[in-house]
Amino acid sequence: MPLLSRQDLEFCLYEMLDTESLLKSPRYSDHNRETFSQTLDTAEQVAEKYFAPHNQLADAKEPWFDGEKVHTIPEVKAAFHHFVNAGLLTARLDFEDGGMQLPHVVAAACTGYVTAANPSSSAYPFLTLAASNLIQHFASEELKNTYLPLLRSGQAAGTMALTEPDTGSSLADIKTTATPTDQGHYLVKGNKMYISGGDQDITDNIVHLVLAKIKGAPTGVKGISLFLVPKWQVDEQGRPRQRNDVQLAGLLHKMGYRGTTSTVLNFGEQNQCVGYLIGEPHQGLKYMFMMMNEARVGVGLGAAVIGYRGYVESLNYARERPQGRHPSNKDPASPPIAIIEHADVKRMLLAQKAYAEAAIALCLYANHLIDRIDICNDPQQRKPLQELLDLLTPIVKSWPSEFGPKANSLAIQILGGAGYIREYPVEQFYRDNRLNPIHEGTHGIQAMDLLGRKLWQSGSLGLQTLLGEINNTLQQAAEFAELNEYCEQLQAALQLMQTTIQNLGSQLQKAGPDIGLANASAFLSLAGHVVVAWLWLWQASAAMKGLQTGSSSGFYQGKLHACRFFFRWELPKIQHWSTLLQNADDTCRTMQNEFF
Ligand SMILES: Cc1cc2nc3c(=O)[nH]c(=O)nc-3n(C[C@H](O)[C@H](O)[C@H](O)COP(=O)(O)OP(=O)(O)OC[C@H]3O[C@@H](n4cnc5c(N)ncnc54)[C@H](O)[C@@H]3O)c2cc1C
Repeated sequence: MPLLSRQDLEFCLYEMLDTESLLKSPRYSDHNRETFSQTLDTAEQVAEKYFAPHNQLADAKEPWFDGEKVHTIPEVKAAFHHFVNAGLLTARLDFEDGGMQLPHVVAAACTGYVTAANPSSSAYPFLTLAASNLIQHFASEELKNTYLPLLRSGQAAGTMALTEPDTGSSLADIKTTATPTDQGHYLVKGNKMYISGGDQDITDNIVHLVLAKIKGAPTGVKGISLFLVPKWQVDEQGRPRQRNDVQLAGLLHKMGYRGTTSTVLNFGEQNQCVGYLIGEPHQGLKYMFMMMNEARVGVGLGAAVIGYRGYVESLNYARERPQGRHPSNKDPASPPIAIIEHADVKRMLLAQKAYAEAAIALCLYANHLIDRIDICNDPQQRKPLQELLDLLTPIVKSWPSEFGPKANSLAIQILGGAGYIREYPVEQFYRDNRLNPIHEGTHGIQAMDLLGRKLWQSGSLGLQTLLGEINNTLQQAAEFAELNEYCEQLQAALQLMQTTIQNLGSQLQKAGPDIGLANASAFLSLAGHVVVAWLWLWQASAAMKGLQTGSSSGFYQGKLHACRFFFRWELPKIQHWSTLLQNADDTCRTMQNEFF
């Protein structure tokens, strides 16, 4: 059973998104569709051979601490190093830095394979990649020269250390401190919690990127700085020299993602924790947001591909599991039919297809947008694209994170009792995917970011750019009479969204944020569904074009049917969310603590 459908990935890359147009840019002119395919082949092989086989084992045999050292099963370490050695960690880097200079969208499709194969083992290389990107952008030459070679060669892995026992969503309140010394470094002191990969036996060293406040810094987020804190201080060749004062206080035991160590870390128990400031003091959150935004798009993709795996697993099961007869068949002697023949099972399969394939398309679109921004030299054209990416990031993180686990829950339902037992993989998919609405900014925090900030940023330029992109799709879809129903519905949805936004704008201005943001999650749902409806119309247009070529008719018919499902069964829900929002419904806000 393939981890992902190559046909679907290539449909998104080439028939929906025009990935080949990137080849016109000098940056990608050495590439062609064949080099993209070869890289996808490599990623698929690494995923199949080194990540997939131990997905269930890593879940069953969690990392453990023997009092001195953390242990993971050896397959996790092997997978990490095969990923690095295949060049996948550095795929997006320039040729001169030893990379493949690959577009983000192709690199994302590659990472999709690896996460689909084994979400928890893939966390180690992805955190390392994000950490090295941040160091590359913001750290001093000295730090870059010391730590980038270690991270990029797999001698060290990266972490992001934001969360503290008392402080998760509200980073303004972190308590970890950093005190300058006269030797150029800082002494970091504090406790961090839930740090993924915070200790492990996979790499010789670990590079923690730690948020802390320098004594005397302004209060709130404006006082947060970013520090590079190695587990081992290194000599001039980068070899571990002396243990830094970072101690493992304990491993946490999770519902899913069990192969990734989840750690509580104490920094500076002996007042000896050496940390190096990255960039300027008090700018740490801004730098970290670069890593977090990248991570958020990555979280969306992870949720999408885990959702997809459940879809494929339950589809195959439904094709093979005989049970029951059509309601019209009253003959008990007739053979039972496969459950895929029951309309209700088809409903659950269609919903999974509509969620997972749209979520993958959404994440690839976001990565393609990053490529368009990267190769755009004209600041006037670049600005609207950047605003669009900013606007979409909370949706790209949150929509797949909500609907990926919903898809996995439906997969469990299709397998019936078999879905609930550990002999089948779908319960693990659900447990793994359930993390995604929680980490990298919870669902509720993303909703407030979208409605409270991103929507209005730069005079709502992001929204205007989004409407322009959707209009392009509507024009293309207008060529096909078969898609009229969806074009009209999407236009009405856009109208409803804009009316709702106007109403919310005046609520925020007149009544203030406590009332205006109270139902932000309903707005995230509404905006997410409108964006996904647009992507389904886009896929349907591409499918209509594909059908004209006369090939793969089943694949394209499947796309059209999933589009129909989304427009008929899902999109109408926006009316309900809009009503709640426009009425400034206060049911939740006015509920009192003591009434519960
Ligand atoms: C498996 C796992 C891996 C993780 N990996 C890392 C890591 O590598 N590095 C790292 O730094 N952190 C990591 N985290 C931490 C994660 O980012 C936090 O758990 C998350 O940000 C939420 O913080 P919290 O747990 O303190 O929840 P809280 O912030 O206490 O939130 C609890 C609930 O209250 C809601 N809430 C909070 N504030 C508001 C508000 N102002 N308005 C409305 N609702 C609100 C939230 O949406 C949520 O539903 C990880 C967590 C897990 C479970």
